[in-house]
Amino acid sequence: ISSYDELYDFGVHHVTHGLGRITAGIMTKGDGSYVEYADGRRMLDFTCGIGVTNLGHAHHRVSSAAAEQCMKLVHSQCSIALHEPYLRLIERLLPIMPHPSLDSFFFWNSGSEAVEAALKMARVLTGRQNIICMQGAYHGRTFGAMAVTKSKTIYSEGFHPLMPGVFSIPYPFWHQAGLPHDTPSHDLSTHALTQLDLVLAQQTAPQDTAAIIIEPVLGEGGYVPAPAEFLQGLRQICDKHGILLIIDEVQSGFGRTGTYFAIEESGVRPDILLMAKGLGNGFPISAVGGTYAGNAVSCAAAVAVADAIREERVLENVQARSKELFSALNGLLYDPTIRPHILDIRGRGLMVGVEFDSPHGSGTGAQFATDNFPTTETINTLIAGSSPFKNRNGKAKDGNEIASTPKGMASRVAKRCIEKGMLILTTSVFEVIRFIPPLNVSKEDLAKGCQIFGEAVREVIR
Ligand code: PMP
Repeated sequence: ISSYDELYDFGVHHVTHGLGRITAGIMTKGDGSYVEYADGRRMLDFTCGIGVTNLGHAHHRVSSAAAEQCMKLVHSQCSIALHEPYLRLIERLLPIMPHPSLDSFFFWNSGSEAVEAALKMARVLTGRQNIICMQGAYHGRTFGAMAVTKSKTIYSEGFHPLMPGVFSIPYPFWHQAGLPHDTPSHDLSTHALTQLDLVLAQQTAPQDTAAIIIEPVLGEGGYVPAPAEFLQGLRQICDKHGILLIIDEVQSGFGRTGTYFAIEESGVRPDILLMAKGLGNGFPISAVGGTYAGNAVSCAAAVAVADAIREERVLENVQARSKELFSALNGLLYDPTIRPHILDIRGRGLMVGVEFDSPHGSGTGAQFATDNFPTTETINTLIAGSSPFKNRNGKAKDGNEIASTPKGMASRVAKRCIEKGMLILTTSVFEVIRFIPPLNVSKEDLAKGCQIFGEAVREVIR
């Protein structure tokens, strides 16, 4: 295959049709907040490979650490021998844990594996079977993780029956509670905690319930921070009944929200804390930190990530850029033509969602619009071979076709942003655009992204 065009066509044919993508063409390079394609396109990347390359593409320190480690020791398997990067990573993680009781760690390759491990640990440690999760949650694509994922049916469609013993309560988010969108967060917390009490009284007895698993900022379900009082309420109920609290910070963790972990704001102690994505800045690694109880190159990369976050003052950048992002987005509301279309601007740090009003009011009708624009985890999972797992509208599609068939407002705005040179994703079954720029994005690039977004919104509603 001699040309990139031919190589791309080859890929469209031979990469499983179960995968969709938001752009056509071949990505060849990434540096900082930008990526380049073989045809010369250079795009501002506000997706970070779905919240993974949080320090930007090919961060010098991280790539060098990985390259150096590659020449020393690539793999040893920690049941054969502990290796230095494994231990150095623990040395870096310990002081940033949200609670000192989280002092025992092990590492996997992906967020889903960390979730699986946590579910198994919870069952073994408590001797109980059942798990309570949140309606709207996303925890991954493996079987246990899929069973506690409630953000879109597309993730489980065709794969039932799922793992039994899973119960759910609404995330404190108005869509999930079926309450008006201006419901105060106190009322949302009370509503969700009442539902939890009911589930424990009516569906799974506390003595049968091993754990509650929650994302402190709902990710794939719509970029919604949980109110601190809700998380504190969960902690109290867990303490009362001896239930473990699993905090999934695969997407919200490692600086994304302006603190190392989103849970810090609530002061709540997790029993088990899950990390992945930004931990390795693109090298596959996930971590389970617990009160109880990898790969050498990925560990070395993660050590460099932790050092870079600390020494390059990345959290300060997140906090400063977050204020600018919110003020730019809120600024759009002064435009009377835009205002009626925006239902909510929310999030924490650089994990920010903009929700558009959907033609169906509550937004629940927008499901098929986002399904046609498989911007999220469909991209993550490789289904090998020519499988029956076509895109959910039945046809194999390449990026061009997908990008040209959006239906909802969020998808249309995302498509327009991409045409204007910025990669950006939607999330959830509601009309939500998510901003996940690199944590070290410059003031200028953030402003550029906000400008592109504003222009895209104006052009779509025109
Ligand atoms: N938990 C959360 C909160 C996530 O956002 C994700 C990925 N989007 C996962 C778990 C699964 O991680 P992975 O894709 O690495 O398996």
